Amino acid sequence: MKYILAIDQGTSSSRCILYNQESQPVAVAQQEFRQIYPKPGWIEHDAEEIWQSQVSVIKQAMQEKCLESSDIAGIGITNQRETVVLWERKTGKPIHNAIVWQDRRTADECTRLKDAGFEPLIQAKTGLLLDAYFSATKIKWLLNNVENARTKAERGELAFGTIDSWLVWNLTQGELHITDVSNASRTLLYNIEQLQWDEELLKLFDIPPSLLPSVKTSSEVYGPTQHPDIGAGMPIAAIAGDQQSALFGQLCNQSGMAKCTYGTGSFLMINTGRKKVVSKHRLLSTIAWQIGTEVTYALEGSVFIGGAVIQWLRDGLMVFKQASDSEALASSVQDNGGVYFVPALTGLGAPHWDSHARGAIFGITRGTTHAHLARAALESIAFQVDELLQTMTLDCGEAITQLRIDGGVAKNNLMVQFQADISNISIARPDNLETTALGAAYLAGIAVGFWKMEELNQLCCINQMFTSNLPTKQVDSLKYYWTKAVGRAKNWAE
Ligand code: ADP
Repeated sequence: MKYILAIDQGTSSSRCILYNQESQPVAVAQQEFRQIYPKPGWIEHDAEEIWQSQVSVIKQAMQEKCLESSDIAGIGITNQRETVVLWERKTGKPIHNAIVWQDRRTADECTRLKDAGFEPLIQAKTGLLLDAYFSATKIKWLLNNVENARTKAERGELAFGTIDSWLVWNLTQGELHITDVSNASRTLLYNIEQLQWDEELLKLFDIPPSLLPSVKTSSEVYGPTQHPDIGAGMPIAAIAGDQQSALFGQLCNQSGMAKCTYGTGSFLMINTGRKKVVSKHRLLSTIAWQIGTEVTYALEGSVFIGGAVIQWLRDGLMVFKQASDSEALASSVQDNGGVYFVPALTGLGAPHWDSHARGAIFGITRGTTHAHLARAALESIAFQVDELLQTMTLDCGEAITQLRIDGGVAKNNLMVQFQADISNISIARPDNLETTALGAAYLAGIAVGFWKMEELNQLCCINQMFTSNLPTKQVDSLKYYWTKAVGRAKNWAE
């Protein structure tokens, strides 16, 4: 058995990657699936389509290497988090489209609960804030809006799962209804210290406990696959939410180690070890993973618009043809020429949480060119992550000195150097920027004895380091103007 199979079920595509013993990807298959927008602010996925796309990429990757199920030592699953599926236990059919993490339909319900004073209780138990982003209010919405759903749920006929549970249910033909601690910790229903579903929260959100999967560690053999289309008998051996999996894939396995994934949005996460750090600045505490009896916690901050600002310059303003062109264009000017771009295109995430902020560009003069715009956009990605770094430092009580990075924008040297400069931090960029799938592969490899934890640290393959080399005075001036710009973009839409 020479390979670990990673299933990476993301928000826009399903992927399968096969890794060899040296943790090199030897086959990759990817398939996009439909995004369904029934109303403004609503986003759904067809759970059946997700499953079918996943089957198809697993088959494709295995065929590429002419593999059979007996060649696979273990399967690791990583997935888009918080997205909710409800299905009939008897037929395995979803009762509705999945409601995706980005969906805002339950925002009013969250405001109502916040106004009623429930946020401190929820933060204390789950480490999260009251926001439509998380699963609980989406489950409640389905129970209240799909015909007969609540009655069926009360009779024990329905199952709830985040995408990992849905995949495992299908991989095992309904044999296993499970999730792992990292996914459970994003539902608003799981007590991350007691490590159990929380009765008080289930009552608050009006969710029958019979819906819930059992919660497992992130790295153990849960059971074999039993599906004829992809082969039987492959041990399913790891589950982790995408950001937690990336943290593990970056081998940030000691307390104090941090990673940032620069994709559509930017996600900063720091391993806080055995300690749940409660944020005083509206970051999220979450479970990173559990291996054996050991639970590792993390602190997380998310920025909604990262690489998406580059997509907007490309598709909205047609400033360049490809995202990668942004680097040459931005490098054609010496500096931002006084231009600051606050990309609050969908409001601002952590630490501001201002859904009324809107995008704004400041400091435009007659000398401003599209090169300055490109530069200001790239710099804005780093400025936002810098705010998260500063906030995390306040919560953790010590400065983060090294950051491992991944995701599409991490290829952009100008952005990465600017991050190192303004955050006064050393940045390590690995060869392989696809760390999300790698994390699930590592967790599965550990569970089946394919790799040992000690070996993994040797597999870590840092390709390039970036260190700060901008005078403090210049950094202070850049941050001064950025802060001023953010202040003016806030609370715009009414
Ligand atoms: P996701 O997983 O969120 O889909 P990816 O990690 O694949 O995101 O990164 C895609 C994002 O990275 C896009 O928003 C794109 O605009 C941006 N991007 C890709 N390459 C570059 C580059 N060389 N410079 C700047 N941005 C880039």
